[in-house]
Amino acid sequence: MPVSSSSTPPSAKFTDQPFHVMTKPIGPICNLDCTYCYYLHKEELYPKGNKWKMEDTCLESYIRQYIDVQPKDAAEVTFAWQGGEPTLLGLEFFERCVEIQNKHLRKGMTITNTLQTNGVLLDDEWCRFFLKNRFLIGLSIDGPAELHDAYRVDHQGKGSHSSVVAALRKLKKFGVEFNALIVVNRTNGDHGRRIYRYLRDAGCRYLQFIPIVERAGIGRHPEVTVSLGTDSTPFDKAADAVSSRSILPEQFGQFLCDVFDEWILEDVGRVFVQIFDQALSAWVGVEPSLCVFRRTCGRALAMEHNGDVYSCDHFVEPDYLLGNLNVIPLEELVNSGRQQAFGDAKLDTLPQYCLNCEVRHACNGECPKNRFLQTPDGEDGLNYLCAGYRKFFNHIDEPMQQMAALIKSRKPPSLIMHKDPGAAAREQQSESQRD
Ligand code: SF4
Ligand code: SF4
Repeated sequence: MPVSSSSTPPSAKFTDQPFHVMTKPIGPICNLDCTYCYYLHKEELYPKGNKWKMEDTCLESYIRQYIDVQPKDAAEVTFAWQGGEPTLLGLEFFERCVEIQNKHLRKGMTITNTLQTNGVLLDDEWCRFFLKNRFLIGLSIDGPAELHDAYRVDHQGKGSHSSVVAALRKLKKFGVEFNALIVVNRTNGDHGRRIYRYLRDAGCRYLQFIPIVERAGIGRHPEVTVSLGTDSTPFDKAADAVSSRSILPEQFGQFLCDVFDEWILEDVGRVFVQIFDQALSAWVGVEPSLCVFRRTCGRALAMEHNGDVYSCDHFVEPDYLLGNLNVIPLEELVNSGRQQAFGDAKLDTLPQYCLNCEVRHACNGECPKNRFLQTPDGEDGLNYLCAGYRKFFNHIDEPMQQMAALIKSRKPPSLIMHKDPGAAAREQQSESQRD
């Protein structure tokens, strides 16, 4: 499906359209010590003895400014709380957030809070609070115990699976809305079907799969890898560039194919998998909403506990510090030329190999943080996960076309589960004749 390659017009302000700030009110401090965590070592960015808690004045300034800079006609504003582990701040901190939000809320606007947690501290009181204040919870769980506990361990090295399962049960018991966030890594990456069935059968209705890609020699547990030698192709060298915990490109593609093949049998419209929804959007001809699959990005900023605003959660680094919102207004930081350039770079640096790719409309070269390979013809900037995405998006092409045709004929895409292949083909044919 052709997609225009035009970039964001330079005159368009980011704040004219929805944008997000992922807020880290406790910085990287966490009660777990997950081996693959990309954020724990961010502690090094701030002085020793730093107080890892957002001050009340900073919190109020942020909430007020964030509401103020939303587009004039915005009916809803979403706050995203992450860490580290934000629940370590205690319930009082979030009660205070809600109090300040209500104070500054614009007439006719509703507020949604999302909170990402490892679940360890969730009890009845937290769940009652989440339900009452309509928090959407992101719960990190990597599958059954032996897969989850491979990397999601506490500071004594003990697995956290039993705690997260207890949290999941509580969220369900209280009727709190939640997404399961599954980090796909080298260990659980061969178990797509099993993980999908496990979470679906545990009552998870919303799933997000996040591939773990750790550059070798970078991060909290850096690893040195061995060179494969000069005969290998750029794709062969992929494993060489990352830690042994990182998912392999083909492995990720196969994982997604396996989950999709299981989902399409009987769960369309019943279980929502973020990457499938994003892909369907692309096949319908609407640009995906998730930054990694959009042509440009830069609308998902990150803010540290002291008000420092960075270009993106994956670029919380000195070079990407835009400024502090206690000194420079948030609106100025979000609309700055630097941030616009950061977002446009996603498209401007896309290699020709991607521009020619048959699934570019769905992939768009994914996230720039993962673009550290060379294309087969030697151009820099190919995404490490390319082989996986290409495999997956081609694998789902036909069913996506069928679901897109159903949507265009104002029918639910879930009808795909009851089709015989001949009927699907006929429907597609009549759809294209109508077009
Ligand atoms: S750098 Fe990656 S994660 Fe960050 S906004 Fe861009 S696409 Fe999204
Ligand atoms: S699948 Fe590969 S070649 Fe195609 S757009 Fe994605 S990264 Fe680029």
